[in-house]
Amino acid sequence: MSLEALEKLTEALSRLPGIGRRSAGRMAVKLAAEPDRMAAALVSALDQVRREVRFCGTCGALTSVDRDPCVYCTDAGRDHTLLCVVEDPADIDAIEETGAFAGRYHVLLGRISPLRGEGPNDIRLRALIKRVREEGVREVVLALNTDLEGEATAGLVRALLRERGVRVTHPAYGIPAGSGVRFADAVTLGRALEGRREA
Ligand SMILES: [Zn+2]
Repeated sequence: MSLEALEKLTEALSRLPGIGRRSAGRMAVKLAAEPDRMAAALVSALDQVRREVRFCGTCGALTSVDRDPCVYCTDAGRDHTLLCVVEDPADIDAIEETGAFAGRYHVLLGRISPLRGEGPNDIRLRALIKRVREEGVREVVLALNTDLEGEATAGLVRALLRERGVRVTHPAYGIPAGSGVRFADAVTLGRALEGRREA
């Protein structure tokens, strides 16, 4: 493996959440040093994910290619009038872990970020408005990030939903400052979801 190849791999790995440049470099070396055991397993797992995992066409959660809509969307035991809006599919896992939410989800798959040139049309906002209109949603819980971009996104979603007469709430605490629900403590977040307030 040439050094350029290692550099490329490091660069790709460092784009993953929570992986700094240094860890990425160590991973790249490890993968290069054990091509059969480590690299081949990774390539095969990535290939399987590419073939079998999709975003749910309704809510944006990750689901298998033969299960769209996903398990959350098709679960008749869930409250169909209650929708929780999150930024990232990983946020759903964090909320499910609390066991405190019995509605369905809507993943925006992004946020409004003027710095990165991402506006309302770059996230699944129109799909949210359509669902609210067509699916009899009465309450939307905003479980978005608490940083500036997350708050700007929440502000826009809130305004658009209020215009349409939907109750908009949020977990009043439990999301660590400047981050998202996927970093929250499950017990605290569960309590915050049960005691959610008007956003
Ligand atoms: Zn779904």
